[in-house]
Amino acid sequence: HRIITAAAQFDDDALEATIRPKRLTEYLGQQAVREQLSIYIEAARKRGGALDHVLIFGPPGLGKTTLSHVIANELGVNLRSTSGPVLERAGDLAALLTNLEANDVLFVDEIHRLSPVVEEVLYPAMEDFQIDIMIGEGPAARSIKLDLPPFTLIGATTRAGMLTAPLRDRFGIVQRLEFYTADELTAIVRRAAKILGIVCAPEGAQEIARRSRGTPRIANRLLRRVRDYAEVRAGGEITLPVARAALDMLKIDPEGFDELDRRLLTLIVENFDGGPVGVESLAAALSEDRGTLEDVVEPYLIQQGYLIRTARGRMISAKGWRHLGLAPPARQVQ
Ligand code: ADP
Repeated sequence: HRIITAAAQFDDDALEATIRPKRLTEYLGQQAVREQLSIYIEAARKRGGALDHVLIFGPPGLGKTTLSHVIANELGVNLRSTSGPVLERAGDLAALLTNLEANDVLFVDEIHRLSPVVEEVLYPAMEDFQIDIMIGEGPAARSIKLDLPPFTLIGATTRAGMLTAPLRDRFGIVQRLEFYTADELTAIVRRAAKILGIVCAPEGAQEIARRSRGTPRIANRLLRRVRDYAEVRAGGEITLPVARAALDMLKIDPEGFDELDRRLLTLIVENFDGGPVGVESLAAALSEDRGTLEDVVEPYLIQQGYLIRTARGRMISAKGWRHLGLAPPARQVQ
């Protein structure tokens, strides 16, 4: 059973790689971000210098990693990739930095999880393209300065607020990714279906898009699961009824909420009288990690107006009550 799951996972990863956009024109949606970046990229290319450091933030699956690769491709440079928790010692970062070629991109995912010592090394590297490294130990230890080639640091994080101020200030370009509209996701699903050779009616693509929580990674995953359903239960084509039946089977409701979304909303209504309730209490009651609730679950529910974040905790909106088929209490103003 293990082996089969691993193979299925590998299969999904391989498919994922083939549909990941490589150029800015294939990166759909996020129009403001694309427009700005295309100007900065062109300017950097004309100058023959490195693009200024870029911070990209937004919930998981919205395309931060993809955008970083797109930027490197458009600049015509290499991309080296790492992540905050992986860089344990200052030396780990120094090794990466000294191996860069001029104008390369260094992508650091989860940059808010860098250790303070590693962050210290990053400051002069970002600012002056220099690092100080310690040679030797004890009384004989001395520090030497090394020059680095000019490079672009691209940092990705789910929430900009989690970065220390000195780190955030060193990014010249800060971009926030927004949830995608249903139309944008429809275009993403249709593009992926075409690449993967999946027959998908426009209405089928639209239905998958509407139920994808504004997130391309979810849209692509649902497309593959609906394809499986279409192949086994229907003639292989993803029509509207096929998409609906498959998504219902996956317990994705018409708003695109999954089980965890519904469990969260139901919990606030049933156990906390609609809120306000602190996120710690919710995490404990759901046996979920607080970070998962804050980064993955809540942003979409808040953006869609089902959940309200107040100083005293989370509350269900009137829309949220109605989604659960309940009448909002009279005290609820919105
Ligand atoms: P993040 O790094 O923000 O978690 P990813 O960059 O890994 O998200 O994106 C998840 C997947 O969604 C990608 O593999 C890609 O196929 C798809 N994707 C993301 N953004 C876009 C986009 N703008 N257009 C088309 N597909 C996208």
